[in-house]
Amino acid sequence: MTEITLYNTKTRQKERFEPLDKKNVRMYVCGPTVYDRAHLGNARPVVVFDVLYRLLRHVYGAEHVTYVRNFTDVDDKINATALARKKAGAKGSIEDLVHERSDETIDWYLADMGALGALEPDQMPRATEFIAPMVAMIEDLVAKGHAYAAEGHVLFSVDSWREGYGKLSGRSVDDMIAGARVEVAPYKKNPMDFVLWKPSSDDLPGWESPWGRGRPGWHIECSAMSHALLGDSFDIHGGGLDLQFPHHENEIAQSKCAHPEGEFARYWMHNEMLQVEGKKMSKSLGNFFTVRDLLDQGVPGEVIRFVFLQTHYRKPMDWTEKKRQEAEQTLSKWAALVAGTDAGTMPEAVVKELANDLNTSGAVAHLHLLAKEGDAVGLRTGLDLLGFGDLSEFEALKGMVALQDDVVLKTHENLLAKVREVAMTTKDFSEVDRLKAAYVAAGLEVRMSKTGVELLPTPTFDPAKLEALT
Ligand code: AMP
Ligand code: ZN
Repeated sequence: MTEITLYNTKTRQKERFEPLDKKNVRMYVCGPTVYDRAHLGNARPVVVFDVLYRLLRHVYGAEHVTYVRNFTDVDDKINATALARKKAGAKGSIEDLVHERSDETIDWYLADMGALGALEPDQMPRATEFIAPMVAMIEDLVAKGHAYAAEGHVLFSVDSWREGYGKLSGRSVDDMIAGARVEVAPYKKNPMDFVLWKPSSDDLPGWESPWGRGRPGWHIECSAMSHALLGDSFDIHGGGLDLQFPHHENEIAQSKCAHPEGEFARYWMHNEMLQVEGKKMSKSLGNFFTVRDLLDQGVPGEVIRFVFLQTHYRKPMDWTEKKRQEAEQTLSKWAALVAGTDAGTMPEAVVKELANDLNTSGAVAHLHLLAKEGDAVGLRTGLDLLGFGDLSEFEALKGMVALQDDVVLKTHENLLAKVREVAMTTKDFSEVDRLKAAYVAAGLEVRMSKTGVELLPTPTFDPAKLEALT
């Protein structure tokens, strides 16, 4: 069985991955708050953990992996849209309108992520469907002395678990208090205490609880849903690096204190953030866009996925126009190469790269090698594993053109090699020089060595300029 190694944020090192149960490998990834379209950054964890999911399914068998990703549908921004619609005359209760808005954004999310080739997780729980387990977990935390009720709120007491709090993110509670801009509410015993439950006003969705009508805090949602679906010990917990603190730290505190007999998550994985042309994506910089914006502009989802996979998930990644163009060219070529080819034996080198802490760029490099060798079956099979299932509709025409370029280049490489061979005996290199100059003028880089001749297209390559030469 392929040995997988993963970088575990908890121990800050690469570790051999050993699931608790090879027949049921369990992974939980924090999903989106469903208030609007997903932006390009939101797609990064989706693609990263989709690759991991595919790798786990390949190694342990598709039926032996359970992947859970939640939807956070308790949120002020969802409420705001619902309220605005109600004010504008929409029919139904506020709960109905909130549900409607969440349904709408969940459908968008699944369609957009589907376009990126992401498989749907086995379970996609919605927070609003797990309120009862959340209330039960909070009650348990109160009973065990890890939480306290105050003014309609219930707070987790960080001081009740000093020995564990801060381990994941590597901070001490004292440092956190000194450095954090936490909300200092009069009802908090320690400024780092965080909300498990808070009151809801009458015009907003709320649920009855022992502490009055209210709603859960964000962190308890993931603790309760992962416990309900995966148990008190499971294998992998993932999300963006921005969630490591406080969200994941708080999840650990809640889950370990409520279920001390369990391990909660054993391997913690965090993807680095996405930037655009070297800058943080933000509305004020005007470089903020959604996945749907790109798809609507005609950028195929496969191209977005390909660009993502070229950067290791633990490195910041930059979305650039140049990368988009290059990805489009590569995929067009590959689409033409694998057209009509069925998958066959898995190229083990591709699996090995992924098994090495998801070295997706290494895996892509190996696909380039397979393409260069003309191994269409290997390329097709490797592409499947990386989630590029169907490239048939993928700009087939462009692919043909790109492939023709390759054939044309090969012809010219052969021509130049032959002319050079003749020149070696006649000692007349004028024809070699004439051809070389023509290739450079056509935008090609000419590489001649003892072993052979190579013509490499530069960005100014114009195949039309070669036509007169043959
Ligand atoms: P949110 O809906 O804001 O809770 O985010 C959903 C997921 O997207 C989380 O796993 C975040 O860590 C992730 N995320 C948000 N912004 C970015 C970004 N710029 N780059 C990578 N991941 C991000
Ligand atoms: Zn979470």
